[in-house]
Amino acid sequence: MSLSAELKDALRAFTANERVLLLTDFDGVLSDLIDDPRLSRIRDGSRAALTTLSTLPFTDVGIVTGRPLADILEVASPPAGVLVVASHGLEFLQTSPGDDIYKPTAADTEILDALSAFITPLAAVVPGAWIETKPAGMAVQTRLCEPDAGRQLLAIVGELPDHLTSLTIRGGKDVLEFSVSSATKGTAVTFLSELKETGNILFIGDDVTDEDAFAALPVTGIGVKVGPGETRAAYRISDTTDVTELLELLVELRTPAL
Ligand SMILES: [Mg+2]
Repeated sequence: MSLSAELKDALRAFTANERVLLLTDFDGVLSDLIDDPRLSRIRDGSRAALTTLSTLPFTDVGIVTGRPLADILEVASPPAGVLVVASHGLEFLQTSPGDDIYKPTAADTEILDALSAFITPLAAVVPGAWIETKPAGMAVQTRLCEPDAGRQLLAIVGELPDHLTSLTIRGGKDVLEFSVSSATKGTAVTFLSELKETGNILFIGDDVTDEDAFAALPVTGIGVKVGPGETRAAYRISDTTDVTELLELLVELRTPAL
């Protein structure tokens, strides 16, 4: 499938604004979903389009991801000038230099140790499951598990004991993340909207946590959901190939005529 006529019209209207902000998720949007997340890369066409967009006047581009900042910088190696918001809005790059890496407090560390004591033995007995350490929490990853076993594990770890219920839980595709921070991708959208002084925001995402971003969009914002599943986004595209097509169209529409 390629882009619908309605979406193309919306993009045309969007790019006609003086100042615009393009925000996009990374996994499953800029990069294809693969088994080993360390090998994810931005698709070539999407990278070229993002690079061009970020150099255009009054056009800001940002990647908003659940991955930790150090991790996303490694796999995405974002083009210079592209904003990066990591850990679901908890870590910002190029917004407040020197203060962009989250550091847990003593109380955070205590609860994260207790979380580890709860989930580590549960994940250890399920083949393929692993625990990813995040700056403000941990994620149980099951994408390499036998599907039923993976689902069962996430259901069990999702029932937190009483002493851990202050943690924020975020679900996704084959993952459950626990965090001492309640920041969401919606937090990131609101922050960047204020920072860049524009409500003309286009957000592209594919997963459950992107719904927080769609919900936070101002009325002048446009949400684009990649792939199947319920969404608050007004528009939908099929896959990462469509994302490249969308970004290339934005370049075409936004580039001043010679
Ligand atoms: Mg994603």
